Amino acid sequence: MGRVAIVTGGTRGIGAAISKALKEAGYEVAANYAGNDEAARAFTDETGIKTYKWSVADYEACKAGVEQVEGDLGPVEVLVNNAGITRDAPFHKMKPEQWNEVISTNLTGVFNMTHPCWPGMRERGFGRIVTISSINGQKGQFGQANYAAAKAGDLGFTKTLAQEGASKGITANAICPGYIATDMVMAVPEKVRESIISQIPVGRLGEPEEIARCVVFLASDEAGFINGSTITANGGQFFV
Ligand code: NDP
Repeated sequence: MGRVAIVTGGTRGIGAAISKALKEAGYEVAANYAGNDEAARAFTDETGIKTYKWSVADYEACKAGVEQVEGDLGPVEVLVNNAGITRDAPFHKMKPEQWNEVISTNLTGVFNMTHPCWPGMRERGFGRIVTISSINGQKGQFGQANYAAAKAGDLGFTKTLAQEGASKGITANAICPGYIATDMVMAVPEKVRESIISQIPVGRLGEPEEIARCVVFLASDEAGFINGSTITANGGQFFV
């Protein structure tokens, strides 16, 4: 049996590609999602990967979810914090609900999922935490004060866990994708999308599989010396 991996938001977009790539690499994968049952069913039909429904914004639900996955598949050794949402608005129009929803899912959700996985990883002396941040957490983005703040927070969180987990065989790393062809980006009006693509030196959106391959590498036993790092995968759009 392979190592057990949870992928949050693992049924659609980048998360679905990550779930599939980890399965192909031999992991036992649990793909979490929030509410789109239809997409989750279609994903299981296509891949045979078991799905689990809970919101990463709910700490108790995350605890119960991790317990359920461990009961079904075994101890969680790889956690991919991928679930994320956008609620864009220029700051002068941003409502507190838009701020809170994005922080709860994209930042607190990462705490909520990592916290219940952490003690077992410490006890067993092995763990891999991979968190999907964003180019917009590195550089900021008009209309995304909430999202950029959460994604930048994910990077600080990751660097701290890298220090705290190192002596216990746990690594924590982040990936900052640029614009990837998923529902999240395809929901943007076509004109805006075209202007985004014009700013990407490789001249195209990224593919979910290109991010998934980074995750498989960071999750591997061979990546044990890579800890606290950020992989920037954005087609050359922005350099840190
Ligand atoms: P999608 O909108 O395509 O998919 C999001 C996934 O997250 C879905 O499976 C969704 O579940 C799940 N999800 C949303 N909220 C919650 C929640 N509260 N609890 C559990 N699961 C939840 O997103 P992408 O694939 O585009 O994005 C994935 C990650 O990559 C996000 O963190 C995003 O911020 C980041 N990212 C994306 C970029 C892009 O260009 N697409 C660029 C940079 C970063 P359900 O199906 O039930 O709705």
